[in-house]
Amino acid sequence: MYDIIIIGAGVVGSLIARELSKYNIKIALLEKENDVSCGASKANSGIIHGGYDAKHGTLKSKLSHKGNQMYDKLNSELNFGFERIGSLVIGYNEEDLESLKKLMENGKKNGVKNLEILTKDKIKEIEPNINDNVKYALYCKDVGIVSPYEVTIAAAENAVENGVKLFLNNEVISIKKDEFFIVETTKKIFKSKYIINCAGLYSDKIANMVGIDDFYIIPRKGEYMLFEKYYGDIVNHVIFQVPTKHGKGVLVTKTYHNNLMIGPNAQEIDTKEDTSTSIETLKSIYEKSKNSIPNIDYKKIIRSFAGIRATSDRHDFIIEESKVKNFINVAGIESPGLTSAPAIAKMVENILLNKENFEKKENFNPYRKAIVKKKLKTELLSNNELKPLLDNETYICRCEQVSKETILDALSRGIEIKSVDGIKRRTRAGMGICQGNFCGPRVKKVISEYYNIPIESVKDRDHASGIINERVNRIEILKKF
Ligand SMILES: Cc1cc2nc3c(=O)[nH]c(=O)nc-3n(C[C@H](O)[C@H](O)[C@H](O)COP(=O)(O)OP(=O)(O)OC[C@H]3O[C@@H](n4cnc5c(N)ncnc54)[C@H](O)[C@@H]3O)c2cc1C
Repeated sequence: MYDIIIIGAGVVGSLIARELSKYNIKIALLEKENDVSCGASKANSGIIHGGYDAKHGTLKSKLSHKGNQMYDKLNSELNFGFERIGSLVIGYNEEDLESLKKLMENGKKNGVKNLEILTKDKIKEIEPNINDNVKYALYCKDVGIVSPYEVTIAAAENAVENGVKLFLNNEVISIKKDEFFIVETTKKIFKSKYIINCAGLYSDKIANMVGIDDFYIIPRKGEYMLFEKYYGDIVNHVIFQVPTKHGKGVLVTKTYHNNLMIGPNAQEIDTKEDTSTSIETLKSIYEKSKNSIPNIDYKKIIRSFAGIRATSDRHDFIIEESKVKNFINVAGIESPGLTSAPAIAKMVENILLNKENFEKKENFNPYRKAIVKKKLKTELLSNNELKPLLDNETYICRCEQVSKETILDALSRGIEIKSVDGIKRRTRAGMGICQGNFCGPRVKKVISEYYNIPIESVKDRDHASGIINERVNRIEILKKF
């Protein structure tokens, strides 16, 4: 019997689990995939937004600014890596300037302080590769970048360290309400007093299981192009385009580990599992990116990927105790959900504290050590310095220079990892230009030896469903662009 069951180990469920692990209560975190962070929290822009664009008065507007402000402390405890690089929303003419002023006003109402409109010379000075047609920009110093899956993994590891029981490969298939909730998964039956529904794209389906049908989720896909590491240095800020009557632009940014990234588009789709990418969409994203940075070299592409937003028909976050007592919905968490997640966790904690007198644990440990740190270009060994592939001491992943020791560290953090993808997200092995072609089998070997299991049972991917979506690869882009 648990006090609380949290369904869904994305960034929201994992941060809620971590927040509640401060109390002397029994918590289970149930996840259908074979790792945490396999939904929207894996594939997004990784921007910690300033909180200026969410429409004033919405829950999004309150929680995004608050969440942004919580990231420094969160990172000092969980060490996932966070950098405030600032953002520019760029405009090309007087009409855009009016839109930027409105955006700034909205931001001020939301409590965002560090906002300023810049003109051409200043923009060129701080962002030298910007398109010459750019005349104005709304600058927000507070905007930051993270690896979204590293935030989620850090939160889940710390929650587990503080006593939360994580059940991977446990898809919730039915919920009954008796005196308590009886939750059936594909593996087990659980009982609990409270349920917190953080199931992302499937939060409507989970709510339906207890008869709640007052919202539904519309899946909206966004595709991206990811470029070589250190090519991110061609920009200094997150660069957004002001939305115009011709549509929403795309963003150009460096990632936390300094790849360049452009995207996303926004396309409503019929299925919640379609993370495929298409050459037409990627071409259109690439063309739009030129309005920000004209000379992005597509030959430096590494891969394309897509994430799916869980937009609700209410077009705001839904964070409330539902009409079913003790069943709390945390649904419709589309962008800026990553930014807002720490504040969402606090809000859920407060909903519970209004109902219960939970006692604080004396031995709660808020700290978690990093698995990998951001590497500067100067810290990498040259090809000549690297030991040959078959040498025991060579890096398992040569592109990102990841050692066996780092992989073993990742494996020892209390979360079972039986896929190459799981190791990739924690250590960056496979994130380089060869995309795991060389290190994939070597990573499998380390996992199989660690758990003493046959190498064939180590999966490449993390989707328990086995669905593999086709993504346009580097070769195709080089041929068709
Ligand atoms: C293209 C794109 C770009 C974005 N960019 C940004 C950004 O730059 N900044 C920002 O702040 N936000 C951004 N977001 C939003 C952000 O990614 C999400 O708000 C956030 O990741 C939502 O986290 P979550 O935990 O609610 O959902 P998810 O990460 O989707 O987690 C839900 C979990 O529930 C699990 N689950 C579902 N059904 C079941 C079941 N039956 N049983 C057990 N488990 C189940 C899933 O497997 C999944 O792991 C973006 C989103 C997208 C898609």
